[in-house]
Amino acid sequence: MMIIMKAGATPQEVEAVIAQIKSMGLAVHLSQGVEATIIGAIGETHAIPIERFEGLDGVELVQRITQPYKLASRQFHPEDSVIPLSNFAVGGNEIAIIAGPCSVESRSQIIETAIAVKEAGASALRGGVFKPRTSPYAFQGLGEEGLELLAEAREKTGLPIVVEIMSQVQLDLMLKYVDVFQVGARNMQNFNLLRAIGETRTAVLLKRGLSATIEELLMSAEYILAGGNTRVMLCERGIRTFETSTRNTTDINAIPVLKNLTHLPVILDPSHSTGHADYVAAIARAGIAAGADGLIIEVHPDPAKAVSDGKQSLRPEKFAQMVHQAGQIAQIMGRRLASTQGSAQPLKQGWA
Ligand code: PEP
Ligand code: MN
Repeated sequence: MMIIMKAGATPQEVEAVIAQIKSMGLAVHLSQGVEATIIGAIGETHAIPIERFEGLDGVELVQRITQPYKLASRQFHPEDSVIPLSNFAVGGNEIAIIAGPCSVESRSQIIETAIAVKEAGASALRGGVFKPRTSPYAFQGLGEEGLELLAEAREKTGLPIVVEIMSQVQLDLMLKYVDVFQVGARNMQNFNLLRAIGETRTAVLLKRGLSATIEELLMSAEYILAGGNTRVMLCERGIRTFETSTRNTTDINAIPVLKNLTHLPVILDPSHSTGHADYVAAIARAGIAAGADGLIIEVHPDPAKAVSDGKQSLRPEKFAQMVHQAGQIAQIMGRRLASTQGSAQPLKQGWA
């Protein structure tokens, strides 16, 4: 349930509503936007009559949120969420370009890639150190050594780092290094992991599960938001269909659908959604045109030698070309690519 306060409501009136919500055993989520103060009453609210709040001073309107996800819904937070990262923000007018290898393999590989993607206009660096491989015998990632290499690459380039977390066992270690947690497709419904990340205030890129519906993706986001971590970005990375020409099928529809249903930024991953380097740029362009707030792209200095996802990884020159095209499409959309000026500073901040 959401309680929308009058424009001139006093802090005391807001406090009185909050006290009433708490007295009913419900959780409170306060959203102080530019337009309005909205207080969310979260929990089993269906049996509570809205009149309990309508009579309180300073209350403009009381509404039930009809979707099963509440904090993630645009109904609850009508303005787009803007997630500040160290040197830019995701979800506003700027398009984020996150790029880097599927896996961190060596010092030279990650530093070389970081410098190349930065030069090409990337705004953040990706790199996996705990890899969710289909085979237990395949390369599983460099672990902490990989995190140290990513931190070094951040220092050299100023790019914040986006790293996949696979289990809450890795949480304390990763908190020391990462700017953005990536929750991979295979862990989208690892609810214990989502809850643990919800307790932190570190930004999260939540990827859509291999066969998850848009509503399931939003329910997973809700797990993180319910813990008080409002810095959630969603990622469309392709879904499983009957089509075998590409690794997955890019659900381009998901972009405008998500933008309609939620205020959270939406990022597209055309690397995993196509699985082929040759198709990445075309789908990246389509994603920006469809309204995505950013792209996450796999880039490798020598894709043929990559230990994972080489087939879908772009060489730095191809990536630079793609960024240029993305910038042109962004312009048509009245947007621009995120500025990469300034150096990465750890920044923990809430909902804007
Ligand atoms: C990745 O980003 O390297 C990855 C494993 O992605 P996904 O979880 O979308 O498969
Ligand atoms: Mn990958």
